[in-house]
Amino acid sequence: MCSVGDDGLTLMECEESPVLSGNTCKKCQQENTAEVVLRKKDMYCKNCFLVNATHKFRAALGKSKIIRQGDKVLVAFSGNPSSVAMVHLINCGLSMDTHKKLIFDPFIVYVDEGASHGLSSEKRQSMLRDIHNLLKDYNIPAYSTSVDMLFNNANNERISIFPISNSMVEKCGVLEKILAEFKCPTARQDFLKRMRYKALREAAALLGCSKILTSETLVDTASNILSNISLGRGAQLPYDIGFCDSRLEGFKVLRPMQEYGSDEIEYYNQFYGLNSIKDYNSEINTKPTNSIQILTKKFVTDLQENFPSTVFTVYRTGAKLSIANEDNDLNEKCSLCQGPLDTSVIESSSLQATQFSSYVSTSGPSGINSNVTPSADTDTKINLGSNEESCGKKKCKCKSDNTLTKVEMIDSLCYGCRLILKEIGSADHLPRFVKELAGSSNKLKQMRAEIEDFLL
Ligand SMILES: [Zn+2]
Ligand SMILES: [Zn+2]
Repeated sequence: MCSVGDDGLTLMECEESPVLSGNTCKKCQQENTAEVVLRKKDMYCKNCFLVNATHKFRAALGKSKIIRQGDKVLVAFSGNPSSVAMVHLINCGLSMDTHKKLIFDPFIVYVDEGASHGLSSEKRQSMLRDIHNLLKDYNIPAYSTSVDMLFNNANNERISIFPISNSMVEKCGVLEKILAEFKCPTARQDFLKRMRYKALREAAALLGCSKILTSETLVDTASNILSNISLGRGAQLPYDIGFCDSRLEGFKVLRPMQEYGSDEIEYYNQFYGLNSIKDYNSEINTKPTNSIQILTKKFVTDLQENFPSTVFTVYRTGAKLSIANEDNDLNEKCSLCQGPLDTSVIESSSLQATQFSSYVSTSGPSGINSNVTPSADTDTKINLGSNEESCGKKKCKCKSDNTLTKVEMIDSLCYGCRLILKEIGSADHLPRFVKELAGSSNKLKQMRAEIEDFLL
């Protein structure tokens, strides 16, 4: 890796890990006790490391003062090392006798995403059993749900939750068909991420939880910062990577593991003898360059190994971004990701330039009328194309039902979600909540347009 300084471009050398044996703990200064080396330079004894790891978790939750006594909190559990460590930290906090005892009411939820990764029912069932085994020693109620329920007509496209001890895999098949329409793995992965969050939010509503804890680590957060920017999701960055995601009224998603490096999680799990399971990406044969998200994660993981402080710099830079106006009303939110709508742009914005470029590429020289400057909206509509039956006009009456076409839906989606919509064969394939939100947003816009002349 290179660095630009006053002397120009210099090559940064990878740091070598120091040898642990015979070294002094940085914290308690006791000689010959170092068992842990973090960031390739900081050495700690086992005890100091565990005290610090526990304190970091409690401090992350404590300083925000978001969780209050008696709050019901959903703890998202995937079985990966950081979620295993998070559940262990919560369990230890609950069993303390002192004033340091954690005071909220946790509910663990595992979201089965096997269907979206093409896993067989047997494999999914075996993962459910593994998850149950990881959690059986904790005295915290645990449930499972599955992303494909959001697409299951038999289930009214609603999430249900089941106690993890007797959860069964139900194959629906609709989600697999929709995912097969995606040609771009990046959009596919982005879509699945949004669906996972939706499943968690619905599960939280069923359990009466107003807070959700997720276990993104330092590497996850730094990767999300870089991939969000690459995906044109800059407007949602503070929500997607910040400690607290408050985009939805009544729910807050908190990320208390964000300052833990992969090495810390590894040591923590090793010292407590905690097992984890492989995540879905390791279950399937994913190529490193399959999607922007996987490529970015690989890049950041390599950075963490060779230049650990750079990853922290990326995280700190992203964490400084804040939301300009948290009081956006519902009409200005994207129907799919529920982040702020970033598509009402000024003339000559980069969004307009991107869309114009795409318009030129797809229309060809003969398709361009030099007298017309296409607006951001019309460009996207043209590029979307439409293989649907509707004529695509706003007041189109040629449809038999109230479902929106892709062209009608576009106005209620942010730039990042428009890229997802582009991949889907029909807007009808989107889950029910997206269609409902887009429908009411469209109606509101029509009403506004009708009464516009009468407004003062
Ligand atoms: Zn020590
Ligand atoms: Zn969106």
